[in-house]
Amino acid sequence: MVHGGPVQAPGSGDDMIEMVRVPAGEGRAVRLREGQCVRAVDLAGGQVGDLFAFAATDPGEYASASHTRVGIAKMFPRPGDLVFTNHRRPILSVLEDTSPGRHDMLYAACDPARYAGLGAPASHRSCAGNLDEALRSQGLSLTTVPQPLNIFMDVRPNMDGTIVSAPASTKAGDYIAFQATQDCLIVLSSCPMDIVPISTGGITPLELQVYEPTAVRRLA
Ligand SMILES: [Zn+2]
Repeated sequence: MVHGGPVQAPGSGDDMIEMVRVPAGEGRAVRLREGQCVRAVDLAGGQVGDLFAFAATDPGEYASASHTRVGIAKMFPRPGDLVFTNHRRPILSVLEDTSPGRHDMLYAACDPARYAGLGAPASHRSCAGNLDEALRSQGLSLTTVPQPLNIFMDVRPNMDGTIVSAPASTKAGDYIAFQATQDCLIVLSSCPMDIVPISTGGITPLELQVYEPTAVRRLA
């Protein structure tokens, strides 16, 4: 296993090379080369985002919440932790986190069946649908919906074995930053879930900010 040591966070903004707005309830993609960094920013606060990462060389290898839980032995990834793929290889490293640190790794992405079960119309957007759209924009087709990192989503296990979700407690401008440990494609969905109260203050936009790895020590 590769361990991420203490890594310096991305710069103040001077070295930002790409900024992609993720409209409320939609999904967008960015490509990262190994060593590049990305911030996922909650612009208005209180908004859950589903984050997916696919290996550039093989879209069949992707960030997996279940493999990450085993790899880091935690419910929530923290700065210094690696995000592992379904092949148990690191794909991202968590650099910095200004949010309260709740990034669910238990819940599946919302999808049309989830909304049908909640009584929503068939036209309701979903993170699975947003992933499909974002992959198509990159010339890729959806073959599976990985279990994402649900950034800013507050899901907690109880001692009795039940799990509960609470509304996201991020403030406007909070972000979590990652460094790519291999070339990859990142997809971030502003989760359109407006029936179960996981986001607060309505469904709002997120932003992806890509940085060059200046002043960032590469992982061993
Ligand atoms: Zn969702």
